[in-house]
Amino acid sequence: MDIRKVGVIGAGTMGNGIAHVFAKSEFEVILCDVQQPFLDRGLQTIKKNLEREVTKNKLTADQGEAATKRIHPTLDRKELAACDIVVEAASEKFEIKSELFRDLDSICRPEVILATNTSSISITKIAAVTKRPDKVIGMHFFNPVPVMKLIEVIRGLATSDETYQHVKALSEKLEKTPVEVNDAPGFVSNRVLMPLLNEAMYAVMEGVATPEAVDEVFKLGMAHPMGPLTLADFIGLDVCLDIMRVLLAGLGDPKYRPCPLLIKMVDAGWLGRKTGRGFYKY
Ligand code: NAD
Repeated sequence: MDIRKVGVIGAGTMGNGIAHVFAKSEFEVILCDVQQPFLDRGLQTIKKNLEREVTKNKLTADQGEAATKRIHPTLDRKELAACDIVVEAASEKFEIKSELFRDLDSICRPEVILATNTSSISITKIAAVTKRPDKVIGMHFFNPVPVMKLIEVIRGLATSDETYQHVKALSEKLEKTPVEVNDAPGFVSNRVLMPLLNEAMYAVMEGVATPEAVDEVFKLGMAHPMGPLTLADFIGLDVCLDIMRVLLAGLGDPKYRPCPLLIKMVDAGWLGRKTGRGFYKY
């Protein structure tokens, strides 16, 4: 399969990073969002991040400029008809993704792979709204996308070997390392990470230690670059809560019960770094 033109849906935190890495690897990118200000903000972030790579001598100024020019923003989803693959990074709501995949299925050529960057929604369920479930796959990038090497490549129940092999090869072209996992709640990354963060929150709630002390234990004792509460604030406490709920609902084991302190903080609007307050103040 000759992939030259890539559609990226959503110009937010992940979508702009995904567009950035494809454009840097010389793919043409059509970046689609629902409102012009979201596209403008996404493009500004891409430009700033590419310039930072130029400053750090990871790219020449010409390469940075050429990458920026390879990204074509649009509000018209129909333009994705020209793409050889689409990577969806819209908001984490099943209603949004199912509407998108149903529509992409009618817009894109039948052989085109439709990938989703979802962190927790079932790939099998998203694939089932299309007539090409064998060509639907999870391509789970990590934040910040230009920096993090991993792509968790998730096979839905119907995903074909051919689709998996194409996405594996494509991930390697982006200089990322694909790791193959099967579809299950939270995949591997969030199934293992989120209970750790949740347990750290229980330790704080029960007065075992302060957030600072919990984080120090993980930084100094386990060589984690960031303690679990700092990381939870970085990810967003609302996102952490949503994922714990997906794990609890999907796996049915009470060990995935979200920490009551997490629920209380989300109710208070303390969502971490993005709202200026979480386990720490910013
Ligand atoms: P975000 O809120 O920063 O961006 C989402 C973007 O999608 C917004 O710009 C929004 O306008 C756009 N959007 C919503 N509906 C759309 C539609 N119908 N068509 C086109 N654009 C639409 O969210 P994000 O953090 O970038 O997350 C995007 C996806 O990536 C989610 O599925 C999330 O679970 C996943 N993810 C997030 C992270 C993370 O650390 N933030 C990590 C891995 C995966």
